[in-house]
Amino acid sequence: MNEHFHVLVIGAGPAGISAAVRAAESGGHVGLLDDNPAAGGQIWRKGASLPKTARMWLARLNAASVERLHGWHVFGSPTSGVLFAERTGLASPAAEQADFIELNYDKLILATGARERFLPFPGWTLPNVMGAGGLDAMVRGGLRIKGKRIVVAGTGPLLLAVAAHLAHRGTQILAICEQAPLSRLRPFAMRLLTQPGKVAQGIGLRIATRGTHFYTGCWPVAATGRGRLESVTLQRRGKQWELPCDYLACGYHLVPNLELPRLLGCGIHEGFVTTDKWQQTSIPGVLCAGEPTGIGGVELAIVEGQIAGLAATGRVEKADDLIQKRTRGQRFVRALREAFELDPRLRALPSAETLVCRCEDVPFGVLRDYTSARDAKLHTRCGMGACQGRICGAATEFVFGWAMDSMRPPILPASLSTLAATGVGGAHDPSNTTSNQNRRDTL
Ligand SMILES: Cc1cc2nc3c(=O)[nH]c(=O)nc-3n(C[C@H](O)[C@H](O)[C@H](O)COP(=O)(O)OP(=O)(O)OC[C@H]3O[C@@H](n4cnc5c(N)ncnc54)[C@H](O)[C@@H]3O)c2cc1C
Repeated sequence: MNEHFHVLVIGAGPAGISAAVRAAESGGHVGLLDDNPAAGGQIWRKGASLPKTARMWLARLNAASVERLHGWHVFGSPTSGVLFAERTGLASPAAEQADFIELNYDKLILATGARERFLPFPGWTLPNVMGAGGLDAMVRGGLRIKGKRIVVAGTGPLLLAVAAHLAHRGTQILAICEQAPLSRLRPFAMRLLTQPGKVAQGIGLRIATRGTHFYTGCWPVAATGRGRLESVTLQRRGKQWELPCDYLACGYHLVPNLELPRLLGCGIHEGFVTTDKWQQTSIPGVLCAGEPTGIGGVELAIVEGQIAGLAATGRVEKADDLIQKRTRGQRFVRALREAFELDPRLRALPSAETLVCRCEDVPFGVLRDYTSARDAKLHTRCGMGACQGRICGAATEFVFGWAMDSMRPPILPASLSTLAATGVGGAHDPSNTTSNQNRRDTL
């Protein structure tokens, strides 16, 4: 199957939806592809009671002339202007029905979002130790947790949002443990005063979790249990204590999904895709919006998505007020980054036996002998399992300071029949043999 789009948007979260809607207003053929079965991305998930903004954008998307490809993931790009996507299990119940599609585009908007960052510590692989956003998503998907005792830990505003939602579902939130110290959170709160909407949201979340201990400068150092989580050991100001619980929801803020921008050779600086005033990346015709350009939340994602959609269809004159909103949002990105910077002591949490790459069972004690992600990958298979380094990559970047400097296709697991049919990842795939820099030079 082969399709051509004037504008193709990858990722149907708030950024991708707003980009596709604004691009479709021009009348060109617009495609919106996402690996989930429905539009909404991380936050506007099915099963959630959606805020007014979400309902408004989803209604605009339904009314717009956008070809929607749900349940497909992009795994390769054989040449400039072409992507390959494979149907995911979410779209097709039988793995044998896996199918692929070749997508051709004039303009591409990358809105691939972000995922949670997990840091390894003894016991983090026990059942019921989950990501904060991950547990939240499972509850929205139907997991029953009423009456369960939950510790929420890690860093970032997501913790409060998750705790509030889980409390609303009838759980007992035993503690919210934020690794950032109070000395960094105070100036962050002061900066928020210029954004009344965010202040109101923060107050609302705290009211929803009233009565729950909110510890700053505090994090889990171990999770223990026979077969599944039974208790968490927390540390604060040099003191440790154990808390019996049923779930630990633990995530250290978000890291952008950069696999596709990297594969295409887009310029990346300090861990984020660099874009110009019109969300244009360093690769002509490839734009980027939302979390890959900076972790800034849903409002900024919508603003950037709209600018990208307008710019991709040559209507930049309509983006003036959006550009001002984006400047405000980018201030918030910087404030978030400073406030929730990870404490270096978190690097020392794993013991020699703690698994860092859980797909390939590679422990910390083995990895610390290597000097780069590539070296470790070649010798230990760290990052070569089913998640393709999505979990351990961000962890090793923080713990060992290993930079992810190249991306080899397929960027997401694809079936052997698809790989054989497309040649992605094989000897004749140009993106497989050239470095990002070489690729940039050839495009
Ligand atoms: C539990 C939770 C609560 C949150 N609460 C808040 C809040 O209260 N306020 C706030 O401002 N923010 C909140 N956030 C953050 C918010 O979700 C993000 O800021 C927002 O979703 C960013 O939108 P986005 O479009 O950039 O990315 P996303 O929503 O992450 O969407 C990106 C989409 O792209 C898809 N994708 C990625 N790569 C591929 C590929 N190769 N092929 C196909 N599809 C692909 C992903 O699966 C995803 O569906 C929360 C996040 C979580 C997880």
